[in-house]
Amino acid sequence: MLRLQGHDAAVQAFEAALRCARMHHAYLITGPAHVGKLTLAMQIAQAVNCLTAGDEPCGTCEACTRIAAGTHADVRVIRVDPEATEGPKTAIGIDAVRELIASAHLRPYEGRTRVFVFDGADTMTNDAANALLKVLEEPPPDVRLLLLAPSQDSVLPTITSRCQHVELHPLPTIQVAQILQADHGMGAEQADIVARLSRGCLGWAIEAAHEPALLAGVHQSLERIAEVVEEGLEDRFGYSEQLARRFQRDRAAAREELYLWLRWLRDVLLVQQGQSNSIVNVSWRDTILRHAAALTPADTVRWLHLVTESIEALDRNANPRLALDVMMLEAPSLRTT
Ligand SMILES: [Zn+2]
Repeated sequence: MLRLQGHDAAVQAFEAALRCARMHHAYLITGPAHVGKLTLAMQIAQAVNCLTAGDEPCGTCEACTRIAAGTHADVRVIRVDPEATEGPKTAIGIDAVRELIASAHLRPYEGRTRVFVFDGADTMTNDAANALLKVLEEPPPDVRLLLLAPSQDSVLPTITSRCQHVELHPLPTIQVAQILQADHGMGAEQADIVARLSRGCLGWAIEAAHEPALLAGVHQSLERIAEVVEEGLEDRFGYSEQLARRFQRDRAAAREELYLWLRWLRDVLLVQQGQSNSIVNVSWRDTILRHAAALTPADTVRWLHLVTESIEALDRNANPRLALDVMMLEAPSLRTT
């Protein structure tokens, strides 16, 4: 059985497909960063190659162990990593797809099924996407493709229409907090803070539990966001320029920052509606209260729309500087009293 905390619907669908050997040749697994897409993909890769009959993936056989360690010859993860010394840094290019095509018609080396995981399928270049389309039109036997992306819209429709779509949703905050306390030794108060910040993305929460720098990074971004809300247009443009540059270097990180904006503004709106106990950024309560008093609820809603629109524009590969400048240009100013 698949060992994944939460995501019951997706797990049940995959387990049913595995039991009756009805796996599709290609899946598009979508959901926010760190929600569990890669964890699910690796477990599927294990399940279709596991050596223990009846309990796939067992997690302990030779095949499962090698897949988890990234050393199985038939399981390949193509991942965008801005820090990597080899492999794609900002976009998945045609080389990765060529490799797939070259090896797809060979028999698997050591397992039963070749699995290609495209982690960051939304970053695929047009050349890569077109080459992949040909593979999806005539899928080779014994090959499974798992495309991971933040949303269905972020991948070309010609690709998504040829994949089975599985969407992973964030877990309830309370479930994340319980897992942090039970499995990661976190105290109740800290678990609540981290779970709220995780937006229900368990992978992020676990990483934050063991890596203080991650939380520090979020607080740094929030500090900047709090400043930009209070700044004039010129400084706001300075910020959008910086964020656009960051987007070119590290798309996922810049996207994360825009999600922090959404959370910040959502907190402001909650306070305006008298729901200040439900805010996510509890450590920033005073600043959020100040912003809630200096904006009208209509202003906050408009700003939320602007951020959402700029995320959508970036997903459609709009010019990042332009998309972010538009957001800043149209964003309301704080009322001074
Ligand atoms: Zn196994």
